[in-house]
Amino acid sequence: MTALIQANDLNRSFTVNAGMFKPRQTLHAVNGVTLKLARGDVLGIVGESGCGKSTLARMLLGLTPASSGTVEIDGQDIAKLGRRELTRRVQPVFQDPYSSLNPRKSIVSIVSFPLEVHGIGTAAERRAKAMEMLERVGLPARYADNSPGQLSGGQRQRVAIARALVMKPEIVICDEPTSALDVSVQAQILNLLMELRQEFDLTYVFISHNLAVVQHIATHVAVMYLGRVVETAATETLFKQPRHPYTQALLASVLTPETGLGIPDMGLGLSFPDPLHPPTGCPFHPRCKQRLASCDSLRPPLAALAGDASAQVACHLYAPTSQESILS
Ligand code: SF4
Repeated sequence: MTALIQANDLNRSFTVNAGMFKPRQTLHAVNGVTLKLARGDVLGIVGESGCGKSTLARMLLGLTPASSGTVEIDGQDIAKLGRRELTRRVQPVFQDPYSSLNPRKSIVSIVSFPLEVHGIGTAAERRAKAMEMLERVGLPARYADNSPGQLSGGQRQRVAIARALVMKPEIVICDEPTSALDVSVQAQILNLLMELRQEFDLTYVFISHNLAVVQHIATHVAVMYLGRVVETAATETLFKQPRHPYTQALLASVLTPETGLGIPDMGLGLSFPDPLHPPTGCPFHPRCKQRLASCDSLRPPLAALAGDASAQVACHLYAPTSQESILS
């Protein structure tokens, strides 16, 4: 597969305060993530709050530099692409449209701002392009000179989408783009994103804690746990036949439409581990009901499955050598 965007063994750690009178500690937010997307793919990234998916999104956008590893677009390291070139090709849509829109600017000036930064067209031409894009995302022209505070959450997210697309990027990184919206508006925004993907030949990375949303929109899914990808597969395969015990638990969970709750309790017994003190061996072993004797000491690598090279899983249950320990 020719990759439009790929992450190669991406790592990002932060030094954080662990508390009063305690030495600062290292938090490994993203650990050895390798992903590839072909043009037109929609990669859904799922996992509980704190699993590293938003840090990964910022790394793909070039907003958070990697501690090690690279992100490439068409084979070019984004760290070597200029900021202007990168923002021309990759754009974000974030969770909270209100905080990402300048409250003192008019809607049309927010949408035309990227064109201004890139020196495209005259002021009149930029306004015309912005108006065209606002119309395309379903925002009537009468709102053009309003400020973001005069719009509803769904309308603000339409403005954020128009701003992301006005430069005709190839890749859009959507970080929980519907989770701050009312349930009734979420479907409209998702459908809009799907239509725009077709129309503008877009490739999406779509981060969400809502599995139903990911199932609806994604062509492929990557499941993250404590900064690592633990399973990746085509969407249909993953939802029909989840392999990793964590993915199985996610799919068995009852999803809630309430925003801000993340993935609800999945009957896993223990809460999400402290990322500052990740478990040894398989990071999921303290919560795993299928763990083997070696799981607390040996970390399973993410490996392609025999018989389904498009799916990868990081679990000893699927390593050829583990069959003996399962059967014995
Ligand atoms: Fe469970 Fe072991 Fe697989 Fe980890 S490696 S998910 S602990 S069975």
